[in-house]
Formats: sequence, structure tokens, C-alpha cells
Amino acid sequence: MPTCPRCHQPVVAQAIACPHCRTALKAHGHPGIPLHRSTGGEFLCETCTYHEDDTCNYPQRPYARECTLYQNRFQPIATGKSINSRSQASKNWLRRNATWLILAGIVVVSLALALRSN
Ligand code: SF4
Ligand SMILES: [Zn+2]
Repeated sequence: MPTCPRCHQPVVAQAIACPHCRTALKAHGHPGIPLHRSTGGEFLCETCTYHEDDTCNYPQRPYARECTLYQNRFQPIATGKSINSRSQASKNWLRRNATWLILAGIVVVSLALALRSN
């Protein structure tokens, strides 16, 4: 059973808030969106996989003390979570390189049209 990051009491995995100290445990009040918090004075980004591989584009980086996407780079990733983090990394890569991908697509289509008209 997970524990509350503030009072360290056991809480059910789906709890939106800690029943003991009322700390929010999920983002936007949704049980499917975990809200990670730093327990001391450190920033979450210091130990986050997405900060290390430079795929995070959240505005709070590198000073996040709360984050919905945080992934501890020192903890093994469960199989399901691994797929999620890989898919999130892919999404981040696509978002960052969208302009280049669109330009490459335009060039390919232009070349195809030019070759076809000859
Ligand atoms: S996902 Fe969150 S914790 Fe990780 S680097 Fe980005 S802002 Fe920081
Ligand atoms: Zn608590």
C-alpha cells in the first residue's frame, strides 16, 4: 500500500487526498492522474528520467516540487509504466520536432510532384 508523502500514513492507491492530513494525492481530483511531490527541499526534476534525457518540456522544469509526469530515474520501471513512459517520450519528441517533420513532408511531396510532372 502506498504512503502519504507528507504524513507517511498508508493510503489506498486510488485516494484523491490523504484521509489523515488532506494532502492532495491526485491531480485535478482525478484518481487516474497521480500527483508526485518532493518530500524534502529538493526538486523532483533532479531525479526525473525526463530531465535526464531532456525530453521534458513542462514549464516548471527544472524546479518542479509537484508534477504529474515525474518518473524517478533510480527506480525500476514496471512493464506497463515503461510503455507509458516510452510513449510519453515519443510524444514529447514528436512535439519538439513537429516543424521539421512537417517541412520534411512538404519536401517529399514536392519532390514526388516534380518527378511526376517530368
Ligand atoms: S516531468 Fe516533471 S519532474 Fe520530470 S523533469 Fe519534467 S517537470 Fe521535472
Ligand atoms: Zn497524509
